[in-house]
Amino acid sequence: MIESERIKKLNEIDDASADFVIYWMQQSQRTTYNHALHYAIQKANEKNKPLLVYFGITDQFPEANLRHYHFMIQGLQQVQKNLLQRNIQFIIHIENPVDGICSLAKNAALVVVDCGYLKVQKEWRKKVADQIDCSLVQIESDVIVPVETASNKEEYAAYTLRPKIHRLLPKFLTELTANTVKRGSLDYDFSSINLSNISSVTSQLDVDTSVLPVSSFTGGEDEAKKVLDYFIKHHIKSFDTKRNDPSKKVTSQLSPYLHFGQISPLYIALNIKKNTPDYADSFLEELIVRRELSMNFVHFNDSYDTNFCLPSWAFESLQKHESDKREYVYTIDELEHASTHDAYWNAAQNEMKVTGKMHGYMRMYWGKKILEWTETVSKAFDHALYLNNTYELDGRDPNGFAGVAWCFGKHDRAWKERPIFGKVRYMNEAGLKRKGNLEEYITQVEKKVDEFGK
Ligand SMILES: Cc1cc2nc3c(=O)[nH]c(=O)nc-3n(C[C@H](O)[C@H](O)[C@H](O)COP(=O)(O)OP(=O)(O)OC[C@H]3O[C@@H](n4cnc5c(N)ncnc54)[C@H](O)[C@@H]3O)c2cc1C
Repeated sequence: MIESERIKKLNEIDDASADFVIYWMQQSQRTTYNHALHYAIQKANEKNKPLLVYFGITDQFPEANLRHYHFMIQGLQQVQKNLLQRNIQFIIHIENPVDGICSLAKNAALVVVDCGYLKVQKEWRKKVADQIDCSLVQIESDVIVPVETASNKEEYAAYTLRPKIHRLLPKFLTELTANTVKRGSLDYDFSSINLSNISSVTSQLDVDTSVLPVSSFTGGEDEAKKVLDYFIKHHIKSFDTKRNDPSKKVTSQLSPYLHFGQISPLYIALNIKKNTPDYADSFLEELIVRRELSMNFVHFNDSYDTNFCLPSWAFESLQKHESDKREYVYTIDELEHASTHDAYWNAAQNEMKVTGKMHGYMRMYWGKKILEWTETVSKAFDHALYLNNTYELDGRDPNGFAGVAWCFGKHDRAWKERPIFGKVRYMNEAGLKRKGNLEEYITQVEKKVDEFGK
């Protein structure tokens, strides 16, 4: 059963009497616990029509590079295999998805689309809603509580969103059982690109190839489920006490999969609650409250990618201290090449570059130091976002925009005033060392650098 709050009609047009139903997949790149796919199958069956699934690979997605495409295509290979087993044709073209879906929609009774919250994803849906002649229905499947159901405004911080989310969890933390199509669509003769050779797909894309794929993560829903199982078996019991120690690596490692929609947060939460109920709380706080606070942020705050997104106390306090003397000032080139005086910061930057994922606690320190070492606040904000979105596999995500903004005061409270940071929370080496074995962390990153190169 799909809760009605997940369903939103994006145009005023009725369903057409045409050949098939289409699910335009963009955000939820998976076949299990995908409410949009489930709804599309249900509608196709009600109309006694076949279902097609469409994905447009575009090289125009902001800040996406070879590392991101490689991981995403690994995931799409599995989607294709899984849909085939369910008698559903997967049409993948290299093109602007808006053009692709508008062309296919000419023969569609209904288009179903999933839901990402970034500006570019919303713009695409708006264009398609305005251009097609059949109805476009959006289904929210990448959050546990639909964003506008949780709150109708931008929330100030986790403490203001938490009670709203918790009140709604009994309704939305519910199983989604797989359904099957009555009429298969494999007989349709649509062209589609061959995904089996990833390099031959990426060679057709005009993207930045200097950021190489990483071998530390393999994309796809099967892999995501293995990563979740491993976390449940080996690490969740230590999550609460050791998650901030970067040398311990007890966090789930699920963020790249969540970012590409290769695993559903609902599937993760239900599995955690079922298998390790006694250890679920602190993990679910991150997965649900913190993650969905990020979705709330990018959905309601159009300035999420600039320092204008900050609350006025932080913005004004940082401006007041902008001309304070900085002991160190680094260029973007020096930051990118991890050549600062700070061995911990350099290790974090190298971890991100080499493995595609920096440890969560280090991300806070890393972002705070960029603010401390850059001449202006807006430049520091841009540098942090640029590095995060270029090198993190999970970058370009609502969590990334919220995480960077947090370093500059978003979703936080005012602290004691000090140079450069004003009232924004400060972090230093001593605090970092109290969290874990930082020398061991540096050694681990150095080994990775030796193994994979910078
Ligand atoms: C400067 C900075 C940049 C960040 N950039 C990103 C980014 O680009 N993409 C990204 O997904 N996360 C980002 N985060 C948030 C967080 O650090 C990562 O989600 C987390 O480290 C991912 O590792 P994990 O999956 O092992 O997390 P776990 O600790 O196992 O948590 C499970 C899931 O909960 C969510 N989560 C955990 N911590 C947070 C948090 N602080 N805020 C929101 N959701 C959270 C994530 O979806 C994560 O996958 C950033 C944080 C900061 C401070």
